[in-house]
Amino acid sequence: MIEVKNITKRYGSLTVLRDFSVDFDESGVTVILGPSGTGKSTLLRCINGLESIETGDILVNGLSVLEKRNLRSIRLNCGMVFQSTILFPHLNVLENLILSPMKLLGVKRSEAEEQARYYLAKVGLASKEEARHNELSGGEQQRIAIARAMIMNPKALLLDEITSALDPEMSVEVLRLLEKLASDGVTMLIVTHELSFAQKVARRVLFLEGGSLIADASNEVFFNDLKFNNERIARFLQHIN
Ligand code: ATP
Ligand code: MG
Repeated sequence: MIEVKNITKRYGSLTVLRDFSVDFDESGVTVILGPSGTGKSTLLRCINGLESIETGDILVNGLSVLEKRNLRSIRLNCGMVFQSTILFPHLNVLENLILSPMKLLGVKRSEAEEQARYYLAKVGLASKEEARHNELSGGEQQRIAIARAMIMNPKALLLDEITSALDPEMSVEVLRLLEKLASDGVTMLIVTHELSFAQKVARRVLFLEGGSLIADASNEVFFNDLKFNNERIARFLQHIN
């Protein structure tokens, strides 16, 4: 579903991703691990067409990010949630959720509201539809952001450290939701530093360093073998535990 083909991404003289290739199909959760500054966020942003690439190509459902006219469809296929996602402050939660389905997909208001209530219930926030941004906790805001991405029915969710700005209790709230979505079979690419969560939900684990893929393994191989036997990975995992 997502094919990253030999891409190079530079910021000025800094090469962040070099001749980088990876494929994602539609089965379950892939967790992306790796040291800070190694290109994890950049990779997700390139997939979503938020960053340009110097060489190579990325296809999402066969559509290239190099073609401007494909970007709308690519972004509909890959919903993205960031570390701190801003809801529109002048709109309440329900209005935040129905905006994109109505504007981008032409869904009728009544139908959009019905879907919004369905996803609000799914993220455990049915009682908050009238609330505004400043009346929600950080964890609630992130759960709304996930509902807002899911209401667009994307083929995959790209989640970039969405719990890193939250206190531990609120993180748990959001991680539980992601576990639930994972068990529902939602396809997700998750950048996280939460190892025990990664081990619980990942089907596949990627380890990036210095703009290259150091490991691409199943959960079992990563956590039973590479975690102990790959020196670089072992050192990194000790460091974040
Ligand atoms: P972290 O775990 O800290 O979030 P990361 O793996 O997500 O790190 P990226 O954000 O992808 O890392 O950044 C990779 C490198 O690119 C870093 O050296 C960063 O400083 C640099 N970089 C990222 N965005 C930009 C930008 N817009 N302009 C210039 N350099 C950038
Ligand atoms: Mg990052």
